[in-house]
Amino acid sequence: MTLPSPLPAFPPARGKLIPGAALAPYTWFRVGGPADALFLPEDANDLAGFLAALDPSVPVTALGVGSNLIVRDGGIDGVVIRLMGRAWGEVMKTGELELTAGAGALDLAVARAAGKHGITGLEFLSGIPGSLGGATRTNAGCYGRELKDVLVRLEGITRTGERRTYGDGHGAVHFSYRHSDLPEDFIVTRLVLRGTGLDDPAEIAAQIDALQARRAETQPIREKTSGSTFANPDPPGTPDQRSAWKLIDAAGCRGLKVGGAQVSPMHCNFLINTGEATAADLEALGELVRARVLEHSGVSLRWEVRRIGRLQTA
Ligand SMILES: Cc1cc2nc3c(=O)[nH]c(=O)nc-3n(C[C@H](O)[C@H](O)[C@H](O)COP(=O)(O)OP(=O)(O)OC[C@H]3O[C@@H](n4cnc5c(N)ncnc54)[C@H](O)[C@@H]3O)c2cc1C
Repeated sequence: MTLPSPLPAFPPARGKLIPGAALAPYTWFRVGGPADALFLPEDANDLAGFLAALDPSVPVTALGVGSNLIVRDGGIDGVVIRLMGRAWGEVMKTGELELTAGAGALDLAVARAAGKHGITGLEFLSGIPGSLGGATRTNAGCYGRELKDVLVRLEGITRTGERRTYGDGHGAVHFSYRHSDLPEDFIVTRLVLRGTGLDDPAEIAAQIDALQARRAETQPIREKTSGSTFANPDPPGTPDQRSAWKLIDAAGCRGLKVGGAQVSPMHCNFLINTGEATAADLEALGELVRARVLEHSGVSLRWEVRRIGRLQTA
């Protein structure tokens, strides 16, 4: 549904509401069309009030820092909600091994904050360049740990503006490999996370630095990318686990190009925008890779990067 022009009246809110906002600058790939409207709520009360009063037919989509997204060239229907600013990025120590953090906090900032308090077990988050909201939705993980392993409780707001808590004696969320069963239009607002023990803060900081350095050597983190394009066909822990990048490499796709999109020569499960790519280029390249891998090895790769929004119409 594209909103009619002029736009319908939106409910009053303290945060910023930007009609027709460009979304490409908010994504790592730097592609995609505009949102019908972008809402940057000031805090959870602002967001809950806005959603409760918003016409129920208007779709709502959460956007984190866009590190796991292709926003299609036609843009996104309805209201896109982004949790930006200090209120959403706060990280506080709330127990011996516990942190409470806004869903807009960067995973790296959370790992570093845990380290400063000497809390171990959250270092893996430093390898994921997203926000906690995105990490929750995708059950992000690396180095053998996932968000679900450190999550105590999460809070959020439903499409109708109702506040909900999951975990720790409240309703359960089911997490699996790079997936959660949270309702698609549920906005995660805050999390309580728990580490596994205590250690010297300097030691934890050194471990995070080492993880960051390793990433920079093996992944195209300075490119316009989105991380792993396809999920590994077998979840972590499977004996003789097949990895997506090896299948892509074996199918001869390293460096393959469509328009301005390219399979990264450095890590072939990453697509990159070499400068002028459109979302359509990236998606077409991904589909070409899937077809070649299927032909070469019989494996049907599943997109891990989320593709959202409308295709561009001529
Ligand atoms: C260089 C690079 C390396 C990466 N390495 C890893 C890795 O090792 N492991 C890994 O798991 N991922 C990795 N990623 C992918 C990505 O960083 C993660 O998936 C991350 O958790 C996405 O967070 P985000 O804030 O960018 O979310 P976005 O990309 O903005 O959104 C992703 C999804 O989360 C939803 N979402 C975002 N915020 C909220 C919210 N507040 N409430 C509800 N839903 C929300 C969106 O609607 C969307 O469906 C990598 C990406 C890059 C670019």
